[in-house]
Amino acid sequence: MSTAISSKPAAAAELRPVTALRGVGDALAQKLQKLGISTVQDLLFLLPLRYEDRTRVVPIGSLQFGDRAVVEGDVQLTEISFRGRRQLLCRISDGSGSMTLRFFYFSSAQQQGLARGTRIRCFGEIRRGLGGFEIVHPEYRRVAATDANAVESALTPIYPLTEGVQQGRLRQLTSQALLEVANETIRDWLPQTTLRELDLPSLRDALDYVHRPPPDASLELLSTYRHPAQRRLAFEELLAHHLSLRLLRREVQRDPGWAFEPQGTLLQKFVDSLPFKLTGAQQRAWREIDRDLNQPSPMLRLVQGDVGSGKTVVAALAAVRAVESGFQAAVMAPTELLAEQHGRNFAAWLAPLGLDIAMLTGKRTGPARTRALADIATGDAKIVIGTHALFQEQVEFRRLGLAIVDEQHRFGVHQRLLLREKGAASGRFPHQLIMTATPIPRTLAMTAYADLDVSVIDELPPGRTPVKTVALTESRRDEVVLRIRDACRQKRQAYWVCPLVEESEQLEAQAAEETARVLAEALSELRVGLVHGRMTPRDKDAVMSEFKAGRIDLLVATTVIEVGVDVPNASLMVIENAERMGLAQLHQLRGRVGRGSAESNCVLLYRPPLTEVARERLSVMRATNDGFEISRRDLELRGPGELLGTRQTGLVQMRVADLMRDADLLPKVQETAELMLTSNEANIAPLLRRWTGRGEQFGKV
Ligand code: ADP
Ligand code: MG
Repeated sequence: MSTAISSKPAAAAELRPVTALRGVGDALAQKLQKLGISTVQDLLFLLPLRYEDRTRVVPIGSLQFGDRAVVEGDVQLTEISFRGRRQLLCRISDGSGSMTLRFFYFSSAQQQGLARGTRIRCFGEIRRGLGGFEIVHPEYRRVAATDANAVESALTPIYPLTEGVQQGRLRQLTSQALLEVANETIRDWLPQTTLRELDLPSLRDALDYVHRPPPDASLELLSTYRHPAQRRLAFEELLAHHLSLRLLRREVQRDPGWAFEPQGTLLQKFVDSLPFKLTGAQQRAWREIDRDLNQPSPMLRLVQGDVGSGKTVVAALAAVRAVESGFQAAVMAPTELLAEQHGRNFAAWLAPLGLDIAMLTGKRTGPARTRALADIATGDAKIVIGTHALFQEQVEFRRLGLAIVDEQHRFGVHQRLLLREKGAASGRFPHQLIMTATPIPRTLAMTAYADLDVSVIDELPPGRTPVKTVALTESRRDEVVLRIRDACRQKRQAYWVCPLVEESEQLEAQAAEETARVLAEALSELRVGLVHGRMTPRDKDAVMSEFKAGRIDLLVATTVIEVGVDVPNASLMVIENAERMGLAQLHQLRGRVGRGSAESNCVLLYRPPLTEVARERLSVMRATNDGFEISRRDLELRGPGELLGTRQTGLVQMRVADLMRDADLLPKVQETAELMLTSNEANIAPLLRRWTGRGEQFGKV
């Protein structure tokens, strides 16, 4: 594919390679490369995720749960404990109180270094442990009893997790990068009029501020992304994101596509054979899709519909249209399990019509795979369903007319394009249909999906029993355990979702393991399974399959179970620490139950005291099951100041910007995009390079 987004070579300081910086050799450059950082500019735009206040030592006696604080104290006792799992516990005290440091991974040298009487200074999140305050895996170092000045003088920026490159190193590198371009301005690609109207700081000032906040910077303002420096960068990032999708769309639509034949009898037969009538919303979405399929330019359409709204059958209608017009259709799912699920659904619907389905996933190997590949190449396989395996080089379609992608956010634009290329051999490009279960308000959709036309399925098939939702404080855990026993006695199944541990998949997995152990003990008659993010996709799929087959009663999981696995027999969903999750995520998780005919329940366990917003969120969950309504309320509850961003919605991850939080900037973003596309086009490429250059997400077109 040709590119409209070529970047001009420029000799500015910010475009020099990172190796131009002092102390950056090939080894480090390679590690940085893995993070998508190759130029000095890339370093400048590696923006802090958050900030920590290490400017003062907090007395243990005045700590609050949930703080992230610097604490200093003398070691009272260090011992290895075997409670649950082997761990090192270190008790420290500072005269105002005492607390525990807990290590699951430690060396004996580390243990010796924490001998009684040693004075240490540590930093971490203050949590509630059995014996009061504790920090799990704190950052710490030994200090002299008189060492009063070693605390920081300004807020400490924390950069995105970066394997093999320490935070300290990143701080040093970004400082150097800021110095490197100190005497030259960093080019500002935004239209001057926009900058004036928004009254935001210059790019140079904004970058200085976010990387190295001055001593008087407000942690509250920065943590909630309300500082003008952050808003300045967020605006620019949203704009770059929006522009790249707009260009992508322009590019794709310039290419020729296939106009499908007029509707034939096969489609009618299929519709007549369905055991249900399509809902009004499904019919509307289908009409929009069908209209696109008849056009000679490639369709780019997203179907947005809540969990359970019946997107699959709409996709199947499109697939049948492709087949009756003499084309193949490919359906791509994010996991093997979901691909298999689609495979079964499509087979049940389409086999009676004489349509063969080829499956292509990582686990189908040997002769089955060889046969599938051959059938795809000859065109005998009319419908091909699979995972990423569909991208592989050996996969050659005879005549791909339609690419359907389920659960879009798991793939990203880049992968969609790869699938599209699979159909390009003939010089024409397949239609694309993307399905997502993330309902978002229209204003957001216009930016998040600026490359796509959007159809909405905002109605559930009739006869669903809404999930009953309650919110309970975690002190009532025992009651919840009894409810699980009850549900499973009635041969139903249950989920237990463990809390999100920000930034540490490892701690999250540990928490889940521990919960599974405790629940298995309390419910010894039940078969308890466990899935978490540290497991391989293969192992996760295996556990999910067992659960689906009914060989596991209670599935303990981290938030990885979010995507659309259908287990109609599961009727109880327990979500721990629900107060820490966003509405989008709570809704997605709850959508795992209520898929059968029996009444389903959802228990939101929370830890008081609730913030105002958390209380509001839980009450929205109790009040409604409608994803679009929830998403509207979500947007209202956010706005600048709300910490939980789109991280949990499945929307694209950005560096500073957040579609939900910064939604108020979107109208201006769109206006500016128009302006640049019409009168400032030369500035677009360097802007995109700056923000999306590292992009699996887009830009690599
Ligand atoms: P999702 O939109 O979450 O992918 P599915 O396509 O998996 O939802 O549909 C959920 C269930 O609803 C499936 O069992 C499907 O067969 C069924 N279904 C879809 N459309 C209708 C309809 N119009 N009437 C009744 N049931 C339907
Ligand atoms: Mg689905």
